[in-house]
Amino acid sequence: MDTLCLHFINSEFRDFRGRWVKDDLQQPEWLQQFLAKWELHIESLPDATVIASLVSLRTLLSHMIGSIANGQFGDNDIALLNTILSRIPMQRSLKKEAGIYRLELIPLKKDWDWVHAEIVASFVHLLTEHDPERLKLCANPHCRWAFYDDSKSRTRRYCTADKCANLWKARRFRARHKSDA
Ligand SMILES: [Zn+2]
Repeated sequence: MDTLCLHFINSEFRDFRGRWVKDDLQQPEWLQQFLAKWELHIESLPDATVIASLVSLRTLLSHMIGSIANGQFGDNDIALLNTILSRIPMQRSLKKEAGIYRLELIPLKKDWDWVHAEIVASFVHLLTEHDPERLKLCANPHCRWAFYDDSKSRTRRYCTADKCANLWKARRFRARHKSDA
C-alpha cells in the first residue's frame, strides 16, 4: 500500500544485512520529491530544527508500529500525535462535485506544522480505515521496513521475500544445523 505515512517512515532505509543506513530526510532533493508526490506544497525550506522534528516524528511512528505487535500504543504516544494534530486549525466546508456532496476539511495554515499534521493524519487514517494489526515492521532486525500486510493470511513478516526473508531463513537453518552437530 502506497501511503504518505509509510513513505515517510521508510525514508530511513537500512541495508538488509545491517551494513549501512541511508537517511533520505537529510537529502533536500528527496524531501522535495516527497512533498511534491503528496501535494504538500510549502514555500519555506526546512531548517535544522524542522529536520530534527521530522526525524523524531519518524522515530515515534516507527516505534508505534512496532508496539502494535506487542499489544497497543501507550497513552503518551497518542498524546504526542494529538499535539501535532492540534497545531493546525481546520475549517469545515460543504462541497458539491459532480452532484455529490461532501464535507471538506481545509487547513488554515500550510507550514511545516501542517506537513507534520498531514503525516500524522495519514497514519491515523491507516488505523481507523484499515486494519491496524496489518501494520508491521519487517521482522529482519537490520531492516525494520514499515509495511501494510495485505496478504490473505495476514502472516507476512518480512518486507521482501528475496532479501530479508531468505537471509533469516538461511540464518535459522545454519543455527539449527550448528545445534545438531
Ligand atoms: Zn526487510
